[in-house]
Amino acid sequence: MELIDTHCHLTFDDLIRDIDAVVERSRQAGVTGWITVGTDPEHNRKAIELAEKFEGIYAAVAIHPHDAKTVTDKTLSELRDLASHTKVVAIGETGLDYHYDFSLHEDQRKVFAEHLKIADELNLPVIIHCRKAFDETIEILRQHDKTVQKVVFHCFSGSAKQAKIVLDKGYYISFTGVVTFKNAEKTRSAAAVVPLDKLMLETDCPYMSPEPERKQKVNEPALLIHIARFLSELKQVDLADFAKILRATTVDFFRLPGCK
Ligand SMILES: [Zn+2]
Ligand SMILES: [Zn+2]
Repeated sequence: MELIDTHCHLTFDDLIRDIDAVVERSRQAGVTGWITVGTDPEHNRKAIELAEKFEGIYAAVAIHPHDAKTVTDKTLSELRDLASHTKVVAIGETGLDYHYDFSLHEDQRKVFAEHLKIADELNLPVIIHCRKAFDETIEILRQHDKTVQKVVFHCFSGSAKQAKIVLDKGYYISFTGVVTFKNAEKTRSAAAVVPLDKLMLETDCPYMSPEPERKQKVNEPALLIHIARFLSELKQVDLADFAKILRATTVDFFRLPGCK
Protein backbone atom coordinates (compact mmCIF):
# COMPACT_ATOMS: atom_id res chain seq x y z
CA MET A 1 0.00 0.00 0.00
CA GLU A 2 1.17 3.50 -0.79
CA LEU A 3 -1.10 5.96 0.94
CA ILE A 4 -0.52 9.71 0.90
CA ASP A 5 -1.16 11.88 3.94
CA THR A 6 -2.55 14.95 2.18
CA HIS A 7 -2.38 17.29 5.17
CA CYS A 8 0.15 17.01 7.96
CA HIS A 9 2.29 19.45 9.90
CA LEU A 10 5.67 17.72 9.92
CA THR A 11 7.41 21.01 10.71
CA PHE A 12 5.75 21.30 14.10
CA ASP A 13 8.12 20.65 17.01
CA ASP A 14 6.62 17.33 18.13
CA LEU A 15 7.22 15.80 14.69
CA ILE A 16 10.26 17.53 13.23
CA ARG A 17 12.42 16.78 16.26
CA ASP A 18 12.11 13.09 15.42
CA ILE A 19 11.50 13.38 11.69
CA ASP A 20 13.61 10.44 10.49
CA ALA A 21 11.77 8.05 12.80
CA VAL A 22 8.38 9.60 11.97
CA VAL A 23 9.00 9.08 8.25
CA GLU A 24 10.32 5.55 8.78
CA ARG A 25 7.30 4.49 10.89
CA SER A 26 5.04 6.00 8.26
CA ARG A 27 6.70 4.06 5.44
CA GLN A 28 6.43 0.84 7.48
CA ALA A 29 2.70 1.50 7.82
CA GLY A 30 2.26 1.93 4.05
CA VAL A 31 2.00 5.72 4.12
CA THR A 32 4.71 6.76 1.68
CA GLY A 33 3.75 10.30 0.63
CA TRP A 34 3.17 13.46 2.65
CA ILE A 35 2.02 16.97 2.03
CA THR A 36 3.34 19.04 4.89
CA VAL A 37 1.30 22.19 5.26
CA GLY A 38 2.81 25.52 6.22
CA THR A 39 0.90 27.97 8.38
CA ASP A 40 3.20 30.97 8.69
CA PRO A 41 6.42 32.27 7.06
CA GLU A 42 8.70 30.19 9.27
CA HIS A 43 6.78 26.93 8.79
CA ASN A 44 6.44 27.57 5.05
CA ARG A 45 10.22 27.77 4.77
CA LYS A 46 10.72 24.70 6.95
CA ALA A 47 8.13 22.77 4.91
CA ILE A 48 10.14 23.40 1.75
CA GLU A 49 13.36 22.39 3.50
CA LEU A 50 11.78 19.05 4.47
CA ALA A 51 10.46 18.57 0.93
CA GLU A 52 13.97 19.14 -0.41
CA LYS A 53 15.43 16.63 2.02
CA PHE A 54 12.95 13.73 1.74
CA GLU A 55 11.65 11.89 -1.27
CA GLY A 56 7.86 11.74 -1.03
CA ILE A 57 7.47 14.89 1.06
CA TYR A 58 5.78 17.80 -0.68
CA ALA A 59 4.92 21.22 0.70
CA ALA A 60 1.90 23.50 0.75
CA VAL A 61 2.41 27.12 1.76
CA ALA A 62 0.08 29.78 3.18
CA ILE A 63 -0.64 31.95 6.15
CA HIS A 64 -3.27 30.28 8.34
CA PRO A 65 -6.52 32.25 8.80
CA HIS A 66 -5.63 32.48 12.51
CA ASP A 67 -2.69 34.70 11.51
CA ALA A 68 -4.51 36.81 8.92
CA LYS A 69 -3.95 39.86 11.09
CA THR A 70 -0.18 39.58 10.66
CA VAL A 71 -0.22 39.55 6.84
CA THR A 72 1.39 42.43 4.95
CA ASP A 73 2.24 42.95 1.27
CA LYS A 74 5.73 41.68 2.07
CA THR A 75 4.32 38.46 3.56
CA LEU A 76 2.32 37.87 0.40
CA SER A 77 5.19 38.53 -2.01
CA GLU A 78 7.41 36.19 -0.01
CA LEU A 79 4.64 33.59 -0.10
CA ARG A 80 4.41 33.93 -3.87
CA ASP A 81 8.18 33.35 -4.19
CA LEU A 82 8.09 30.27 -1.97
CA ALA A 83 5.08 28.89 -3.82
CA SER A 84 7.07 28.79 -7.06
CA HIS A 85 9.32 26.04 -5.67
CA THR A 86 8.94 22.76 -7.62
CA LYS A 87 7.96 20.76 -4.55
CA VAL A 88 5.26 23.21 -3.49
CA VAL A 89 2.10 21.51 -4.69
CA ALA A 90 -0.64 23.70 -3.21
CA ILE A 91 -1.59 26.97 -1.58
CA GLY A 92 -2.87 26.22 1.90
CA GLU A 93 -4.08 26.09 4.37
CA THR A 94 -6.19 29.14 3.82
CA GLY A 95 -9.84 29.99 4.40
CA LEU A 96 -11.91 31.21 7.30
CA ASP A 97 -11.99 30.23 10.96
CA TYR A 98 -14.85 31.86 12.84
CA HIS A 99 -14.62 29.30 15.62
CA TYR A 100 -11.44 30.57 17.27
CA ASP A 101 -11.71 34.07 15.83
CA PHE A 102 -7.99 34.76 16.28
CA SER A 103 -8.15 37.34 13.47
CA LEU A 104 -10.92 39.75 12.48
CA HIS A 105 -13.33 38.29 9.92
CA GLU A 106 -12.58 41.14 7.56
CA ASP A 107 -8.82 40.41 7.67
CA GLN A 108 -9.47 36.70 7.18
CA ARG A 109 -11.66 37.33 4.13
CA LYS A 110 -9.10 39.65 2.58
CA VAL A 111 -6.15 37.31 3.14
CA PHE A 112 -8.17 34.32 1.88
CA ALA A 113 -8.90 36.19 -1.36
CA GLU A 114 -5.19 37.09 -1.72
CA HIS A 115 -4.30 33.42 -1.40
CA LEU A 116 -6.79 32.54 -4.13
CA LYS A 117 -5.14 35.10 -6.39
CA ILE A 118 -1.71 33.55 -5.83
CA ALA A 119 -3.12 30.07 -6.49
CA ASP A 120 -4.56 31.36 -9.74
CA GLU A 121 -1.33 33.06 -10.81
CA LEU A 122 0.73 29.94 -10.14
CA ASN A 123 -1.94 27.48 -11.22
CA LEU A 124 -1.86 25.60 -7.91
CA PRO A 125 -4.65 23.78 -6.05
CA VAL A 126 -5.99 25.29 -2.82
CA ILE A 127 -6.34 23.59 0.57
CA ILE A 128 -9.25 25.11 2.47
CA HIS A 129 -9.51 25.43 6.23
CA CYS A 130 -13.11 26.25 7.14
CA ARG A 131 -14.61 26.40 10.61
CA LYS A 132 -18.02 27.85 11.36
CA ALA A 133 -17.81 29.90 8.16
CA PHE A 134 -19.21 27.58 5.52
CA ASP A 135 -21.47 29.97 3.61
CA GLU A 136 -18.88 32.75 3.44
CA THR A 137 -16.14 30.35 2.39
CA ILE A 138 -18.31 29.11 -0.49
CA GLU A 139 -19.18 32.69 -1.41
CA ILE A 140 -15.52 33.82 -1.57
CA LEU A 141 -14.64 30.74 -3.64
CA ARG A 142 -17.59 31.53 -5.94
CA GLN A 143 -16.13 34.99 -6.56
CA HIS A 144 -12.94 33.28 -7.81
CA ASP A 145 -14.40 30.23 -9.48
CA LYS A 146 -13.56 31.38 -12.98
CA THR A 147 -9.87 31.15 -12.16
CA VAL A 148 -9.46 28.77 -9.23
CA GLN A 149 -10.59 25.28 -10.16
CA LYS A 150 -8.92 22.82 -7.85
CA VAL A 151 -10.07 23.05 -4.27
CA VAL A 152 -10.05 20.61 -1.36
CA PHE A 153 -11.86 21.20 1.93
CA HIS A 154 -9.53 19.76 4.55
CA CYS A 155 -10.61 18.27 7.90
CA PHE A 156 -14.18 18.35 6.70
CA SER A 157 -16.56 18.83 9.62
CA GLY A 158 -19.72 19.86 7.78
CA SER A 159 -22.96 17.97 7.20
CA ALA A 160 -23.86 15.69 4.29
CA LYS A 161 -25.85 18.60 2.87
CA GLN A 162 -22.79 20.87 2.97
CA ALA A 163 -20.63 18.10 1.48
CA LYS A 164 -23.05 17.97 -1.47
CA ILE A 165 -22.70 21.73 -1.97
CA VAL A 166 -18.89 21.34 -2.05
CA LEU A 167 -19.13 18.42 -4.48
CA ASP A 168 -21.55 20.30 -6.73
CA LYS A 169 -18.86 22.93 -7.17
CA GLY A 170 -16.48 20.21 -8.35
CA TYR A 171 -14.36 20.47 -5.21
CA TYR A 172 -12.77 17.66 -3.21
CA ILE A 173 -13.20 16.68 0.44
CA SER A 174 -10.60 15.37 2.86
CA PHE A 175 -11.22 13.66 6.19
CA THR A 176 -9.05 13.35 9.30
CA GLY A 177 -9.22 10.85 12.15
CA VAL A 178 -12.24 12.74 13.46
CA VAL A 179 -14.33 10.52 11.20
CA THR A 180 -13.35 7.55 13.41
CA PHE A 181 -14.51 9.19 16.66
CA LYS A 182 -17.55 7.72 18.40
CA ASN A 183 -19.48 10.99 18.41
CA ALA A 184 -18.73 11.87 14.78
CA GLU A 185 -22.01 10.67 13.21
CA LYS A 186 -22.38 13.90 11.26
CA THR A 187 -18.90 13.60 9.75
CA ARG A 188 -19.58 9.97 8.81
CA SER A 189 -22.84 10.95 7.12
CA ALA A 190 -20.85 13.53 5.12
CA ALA A 191 -18.19 10.92 4.22
CA ALA A 192 -20.95 8.61 3.01
CA VAL A 193 -21.92 11.02 0.20
CA VAL A 194 -18.37 11.70 -1.09
CA PRO A 195 -17.51 9.57 -4.13
CA LEU A 196 -14.10 7.89 -4.07
CA ASP A 197 -12.77 10.07 -6.87
CA LYS A 198 -13.40 13.22 -4.78
CA LEU A 199 -12.14 11.82 -1.49
CA MET A 200 -8.79 12.35 0.23
CA LEU A 201 -7.28 11.38 3.56
CA GLU A 202 -5.16 13.26 6.04
CA THR A 203 -3.97 13.01 9.62
CA ASP A 204 -3.65 16.77 10.28
CA CYS A 205 -0.96 15.55 12.70
CA PRO A 206 0.29 16.32 15.31
CA TYR A 207 -3.39 16.81 16.21
CA MET A 208 -6.25 14.36 16.63
CA SER A 209 -4.98 10.79 16.59
CA PRO A 210 -7.61 8.46 15.07
CA GLU A 211 -9.31 5.55 16.82
CA PRO A 212 -8.14 3.06 18.00
CA GLU A 213 -5.01 5.10 18.82
CA ARG A 214 -6.88 8.19 19.97
CA LYS A 215 -4.90 8.21 23.19
CA GLN A 216 -1.61 8.68 21.33
CA LYS A 217 -0.75 12.24 22.26
CA VAL A 218 1.21 13.16 19.17
CA ASN A 219 -0.57 12.03 16.02
CA GLU A 220 1.69 11.07 13.09
CA PRO A 221 1.33 9.99 9.45
CA ALA A 222 1.72 6.27 10.28
CA LEU A 223 -1.73 6.44 11.87
CA LEU A 224 -3.32 7.37 8.53
CA ILE A 225 -3.76 3.65 7.98
CA HIS A 226 -6.53 3.61 10.61
CA ILE A 227 -8.44 6.36 8.81
CA ALA A 228 -8.01 4.53 5.51
CA ARG A 229 -9.22 1.24 6.98
CA PHE A 230 -12.18 2.91 8.67
CA LEU A 231 -13.34 4.73 5.54
CA SER A 232 -12.76 1.72 3.27
CA GLU A 233 -15.15 -0.21 5.53
CA LEU A 234 -17.66 2.64 5.50
CA LYS A 235 -17.47 2.66 1.72
CA GLN A 236 -17.45 -1.17 1.60
CA VAL A 237 -14.38 -1.24 -0.63
CA ASP A 238 -11.44 -3.58 -0.18
CA LEU A 239 -8.67 -1.64 1.61
CA ALA A 240 -6.01 -2.24 -1.06
CA ASP A 241 -8.36 -1.07 -3.83
CA PHE A 242 -9.46 1.89 -1.73
CA ALA A 243 -5.81 2.91 -1.19
CA LYS A 244 -5.07 2.63 -4.90
CA ILE A 245 -8.05 4.77 -5.96
CA LEU A 246 -7.36 7.47 -3.36
CA ARG A 247 -3.69 7.58 -4.27
CA ALA A 248 -4.59 8.15 -7.93
CA THR A 249 -7.04 10.90 -6.95
CA THR A 250 -4.39 12.60 -4.79
CA VAL A 251 -1.53 12.35 -7.30
CA ASP A 252 -3.77 13.78 -9.99
CA PHE A 253 -5.22 16.57 -7.85
CA PHE A 254 -1.86 17.85 -6.58
CA ARG A 255 0.04 16.82 -9.73
CA LEU A 256 2.71 15.36 -7.46
CA PRO A 257 6.04 15.49 -9.31
CA GLY A 258 7.69 12.10 -9.66
CA CYS A 259 4.60 10.23 -8.40
CA LYS A 260 2.49 7.70 -10.28
ZN1 LIG B 1 -6.90 23.40 9.25
ZN1 LIG C 1 -3.74 21.81 9.34
